[in-house]
Amino acid sequence: MRLQLGGRLLPMVGRVRMYVCGITPYAVTQLGHAATYVWADALDRVLSWHGHTVSIARNITDVDDVLFAEARRRGESPTMLATLQRAAFEATMTTLRVRTPDLQPSAANHIGHVIALASALLDQERAYVRGGTVYARTGSAYLRAGIDRAEALARAEEYHDHPDDPDKDDPLDVVLWQETADDEVSWPSPWGKGRPGWHAECAAMVLALYGPSVDIHCGGADLAFPHHAAEAELAEAATGVMPFARAWLRAGTVMVGGEKMAKSTGNLVLVEDLLADYPAAALRLLILDRPWAEPWNWSRDALDAAAAELDDLYAAAARPDAALSGSAAIPARLLEDLDVPTALAMAIEDGGQAARTLIEMLALS
Ligand code: ZN
Repeated sequence: MRLQLGGRLLPMVGRVRMYVCGITPYAVTQLGHAATYVWADALDRVLSWHGHTVSIARNITDVDDVLFAEARRRGESPTMLATLQRAAFEATMTTLRVRTPDLQPSAANHIGHVIALASALLDQERAYVRGGTVYARTGSAYLRAGIDRAEALARAEEYHDHPDDPDKDDPLDVVLWQETADDEVSWPSPWGKGRPGWHAECAAMVLALYGPSVDIHCGGADLAFPHHAAEAELAEAATGVMPFARAWLRAGTVMVGGEKMAKSTGNLVLVEDLLADYPAAALRLLILDRPWAEPWNWSRDALDAAAAELDDLYAAAARPDAALSGSAAIPARLLEDLDVPTALAMAIEDGGQAARTLIEMLALS
């Protein structure tokens, strides 16, 4: 089977290992996050349709500064906040017909693996200790994201990687393990009481669950740097196995009026609000009926258009079979970079089994 993904041919033989960067469970699910998980789900369904056994791991980042800050603000324990938000997220994913991942690792359950990763990098002199904090030498990881150093520094700041930390040898080095204050959540380690850094958590979970590499690593487009670049750098430095990910599926950023949808800008479109007025299949189609890597603008008009297109697809499915080739052409088309727009146009034009195949493959019923 020949899957084309992001302009590259990606031969698949046997089991497919997918890792999806999951949520930090501190807020309700917004459309931008949902888009990533629906795209990962679509890829899972296309590969499964073609006979592959797909194993998906989607993590929960339950050890994270923003989660701890939100818990403090609410006067709740971080564990309680994470548990409640995680349950709400999973219910939304079920409504959106995103298949439950085979593995749902949480950072808090993989502390030992982060310590092992940091130790391996220290052994290889790819990391160093300052006080109770362990840093990895990731100063050139930005090259993986195709950006320059100035942009890398700006994004490191934006994603709270603290490039101005005076203890770092290079401002773009990342934290593997950080010393914590007395009132913060912490675990014991060879370097004292502390907790893992975000990039190290995902790298350690991938290594623990799938070994030194995965077939497809998914996440939002905004994770390309620093998160994914650092993750790959850490894992490859620790294991010597390259590439860490054979391919990346990074879903295009969802914008509102030209701005990134983000909790910090207060422009969130919440999935549960949309699901009150529209069927889940319309929301899936809104997300999927476009090139997966490109950023796009949210609008209610676009969702109305997706709902109307879904009706056209259902009407086409009710027609008798016209073109015999149609039902085989749809699964083949979706292997071409998950080309939903073309497959959808073909399904509506051919009707009958072709339309029913697309509905079933992408869980649009
Ligand atoms: Zn991640």
